[in-house]
Amino acid sequence: MTTDRGYPAVRMYLAGEWCQGGTGATAPVENPATGEVIGEVPLATPDDLDRALAAAEQGARVWRATSVARRTAILHAAADLIAERAAEIGRVMTLEQGKPLAESTGEARRTADTLRWHAEDARRAYGRIVPSAPGTLLTVRREPIGPVAAFTPWNFPVGGPNRKISSALSAGCSLILKASEETPATAAALVACYADAGLPAGVLNLVFGEPAEVSAHLIASPVTRLIAFTGSVPVGKLLAAEAGKVMKPSLMELGGHAPVLVCADADPAQAARRAAQAKFFNAGQVCTSPSRFLVHESVIEEFTAEFVKAAESVTVGDGLEPGTTMGPLANERRLRAIERLAADATGRGATLRTGGERLDRPGYYFAPTVLTDVPADAALLSEEPFGPLAPIVPFTDLDDALRTANALPYGLAAYGFTKSAATAEKLSDGLEAGILSINHCGGSVHEAPSGGVKDSGYGREGGPEALDAYLITKRVSHLLAG
Ligand code: NAD
Repeated sequence: MTTDRGYPAVRMYLAGEWCQGGTGATAPVENPATGEVIGEVPLATPDDLDRALAAAEQGARVWRATSVARRTAILHAAADLIAERAAEIGRVMTLEQGKPLAESTGEARRTADTLRWHAEDARRAYGRIVPSAPGTLLTVRREPIGPVAAFTPWNFPVGGPNRKISSALSAGCSLILKASEETPATAAALVACYADAGLPAGVLNLVFGEPAEVSAHLIASPVTRLIAFTGSVPVGKLLAAEAGKVMKPSLMELGGHAPVLVCADADPAQAARRAAQAKFFNAGQVCTSPSRFLVHESVIEEFTAEFVKAAESVTVGDGLEPGTTMGPLANERRLRAIERLAADATGRGATLRTGGERLDRPGYYFAPTVLTDVPADAALLSEEPFGPLAPIVPFTDLDDALRTANALPYGLAAYGFTKSAATAEKLSDGLEAGILSINHCGGSVHEAPSGGVKDSGYGREGGPEALDAYLITKRVSHLLAG
């Protein structure tokens, strides 16, 4: 069922049923391209959450007892449905999140591939037989950890939830997803693909609600065995602390403030084009978005000129309009935050090279912005911008630049541009980050791990490492003569 604006009616999914939730309470959902309310999201009551927990407990038992061949077949069927429905998932995502249609549908298509990759990888989650004393069979087994409580944000409305769902379900766990209340229809469309593929009731449950109340309820419950969160550092620390109180492991994919080091021997124009493309992808609302540009003084003018050219060639508009290459910010909070960071930088003496203000039209649009002469005390250089702001800062000595890059408590992504193998190795060794790209700004891929160090979190998503958090290791020593 869709509303008259082409936005679907959103439901929660509990114990294999689509439902509205106990009190019928809802929150509005906005289209950030217009600021208009386009629909509503149901909010869970404590009873709804208890229903989700009971379903996940039962679902974990059923799923664990399902053969790996059957599990894999259902997950492949879900991936096929995601791929088939990518255009519709993308359209709904653009309506509620704002990103250009090509980015939305591309995200949905990649999501199907990610699910297939994890489903196949989990078939090889082998344990081992360990040589031991005669008459003793010593084995190490990997078992599903149990029901997972997962919390995902609004910036990748299908890819974000699916990273958690695909790893958990491939590993044999059940999962309760609390997706963002700002992008609920995309999450529901994703869950529908799993449901329609024949997933047994209770294995995957979807709730929305007041985030702090939902997370407190699900984390405290003895049913959940793992807390998986993607979002900001402050909320991640809060949830990790709550999980710690009940001795639960957590997987934390938090924010970053990715440095880009452009060395004296790099091609500055090429580096600028590649970095700018990554900078304005999803309007900069990406945890790995390049966000501090440390450029050797000998190439900074050429780099800046090319970066400004790239920023000015971005077509900002409604993501549904053909030709748009950057949509609005996803919500008014982000617009206010970006306005504050830009004003703080210019107020402290930074030079505005292009952009610098919101667009004069309804919706939450902010122009691609490039700033130079940014003083070290500008908030933009220490606070994650999560928006289309590019501060460019000169350096003369690479060791100093490395110290600056590592000075923040974040450690998610980092980027380097150089033609020297020795300098590339120095950057690879010296940058404190979980994800490093040299001579490009590579995005995340399902075949290799992503994750942070320091305040950016712990645990990995993607690659074989993605299953680690969802599997426990059990040692079984069997005295055969006994
Ligand atoms: P926020 O900190 O208010 O919320 C971040 C996410 O956490 C949202 O999805 C929100 O619903 C959820 N959340 C908030 N409180 C929660 C709680 N107590 N329990 C469970 N979930 C909770 O920030 P925001 O305004 O939505 O986003 C802005 C900031 O969030 C950005 O500056 C960025 O640092 C961070 N962020 C990071 C990512 C990422 O991919 N790591 C994604 C989105 C947002």
